[in-house]
Amino acid sequence: MQGLRSMDKFIIIGPQGAGKGTQAQLLCSEFDFVHISIGDIFRWHMRHHTKLAARVTRIMNEGRLVPDEIVEEVVGKRLQEHDWNWGFVLDGFPRTRSQAEYLFENWNLDRAVYLDIPDDVVFDRVAIRAAVGEGSGFTKRADDNPAALRVRLGEFHGKTAPLLQLFHDKHMLVTVDANRPITEVYESIKEALDLCGPKGGK
Ligand code: AMP
Repeated sequence: MQGLRSMDKFIIIGPQGAGKGTQAQLLCSEFDFVHISIGDIFRWHMRHHTKLAARVTRIMNEGRLVPDEIVEEVVGKRLQEHDWNWGFVLDGFPRTRSQAEYLFENWNLDRAVYLDIPDDVVFDRVAIRAAVGEGSGFTKRADDNPAALRVRLGEFHGKTAPLLQLFHDKHMLVTVDANRPITEVYESIKEALDLCGPKGGK
């Protein structure tokens, strides 16, 4: 079926707790896309105490956005690995106008999926993620606390949400109500991305 399938390049946007990572992983395991999470790459560096970690740890723990030039370098390097035969799902990038422009200049995107969810639901979800921690299917994170979350939501509404208009104008935006159970959200995403046919046989 390889010859019949095109390559898909998606991005997934939404505030913390919207389910970006979960939905990106579901798409990648069903359709063999590569999941590229910038937050995961930074957390890998933090666990391994690299030089990059020294530049980003404090910023991340406070809930602020890492400077564009650092993020763009990390994303550029990752995408240049070209290990994505079927395509990729970029989770958590772009988050600023500069990052979006960088992306448009370098890669032809297909669709941007916006996971729409109210702030109060985000607070509840992140509180659960912070409370239950390891071994529960949730991952405890240093930035899952109310102070950092307020900063992250501020960054989202101030810098990332305005990009939705940009994607809309390029006819790339699909908006999905993320305040529903995981499987329902996933079905809506697949439908919106025309991925509902037989597996691999788009
Ligand atoms: P995430 O795992 O996507 O919630 O990202 C965790 C943290 O990593 C964010 O709160 C930022 O500090 C940083 N980060 C991840 N992606 C980006 C990005 N595209 N631009 C700036 N900072 C980012």
